[in-house]
Amino acid sequence: MNELKLSKRLQTVAEYIPKGAVMADIGSDHAYLPCYAVLNHKASGAIAGEITDGPLLSAKRQVEKSGLSTHISVRQGDGLEVIKKGEADAVTIAGMGGSLIAHILEAGKDKLTGKERLILQPNIHAVHIREWLYKEGYALIDEVILEEDGKCYEVLVAEAGDRDAAYADISVAAGMLVGPFLAREKNAVFLKKWTQELQHTQNIYEQISQAASTEQNKQKLTELADRMELLKEVIDHG
Ligand code: SAM
Repeated sequence: MNELKLSKRLQTVAEYIPKGAVMADIGSDHAYLPCYAVLNHKASGAIAGEITDGPLLSAKRQVEKSGLSTHISVRQGDGLEVIKKGEADAVTIAGMGGSLIAHILEAGKDKLTGKERLILQPNIHAVHIREWLYKEGYALIDEVILEEDGKCYEVLVAEAGDRDAAYADISVAAGMLVGPFLAREKNAVFLKKWTQELQHTQNIYEQISQAASTEQNKQKLTELADRMELLKEVIDHG
């Protein structure tokens, strides 16, 4: 991967950048995504935010090497603190866990006008992001699930709008967990991921069933049974 040829994962994120947008890529690391987006005339400019020294240096070097110093501003800071309110039309946060992405959004929400498109790519636990988006009144407008090098990734795209629209034909609990767009499309990667998760949940259920029958274990079994039912519903129907 480099600034000219992105991974399938980052390429998918790039496809959702609105043409001509100023983008803020938070946790940019090597800055391949903003460099690619500007070089391919998707973004008109970018802010590459990084909290850590090594990746920050790597982003600075990449931007200079690509001759994009006038278009991409590399800034050090925690999450959205690197942007001014209204400065970006699109925010990308990719390659982290869903809880960290949700935390970055929550901690920096005063930097968002609500007009930005959010393009979020969690490696795991996308549910935390969907919950945050719902709480903050964002509408999910699209989702992608893909596999690359044996790993499964999700991309969530959100904008200000009707937060309930995406969940019209799925329960909010199931939709938050697996993704309403992904549940509708139900592609092979989706089915593989949630079939494995169902199997894993079943295994834990069986282990706890054989353990002591404490109140805590009974409660855990109820939670696991609910989760299995929900996953079976998503995998088998609709
Ligand atoms: N976005 C790139 C990608 O998808 O390939 C890099 C992902 S890398 C695994 C995660 C990067 O996020 C690291 O470089 C890390 O330093 C940075 N990071 C983690 N927490 C951050 C935060 N709160 N604010 C800014 N950057 C952060």
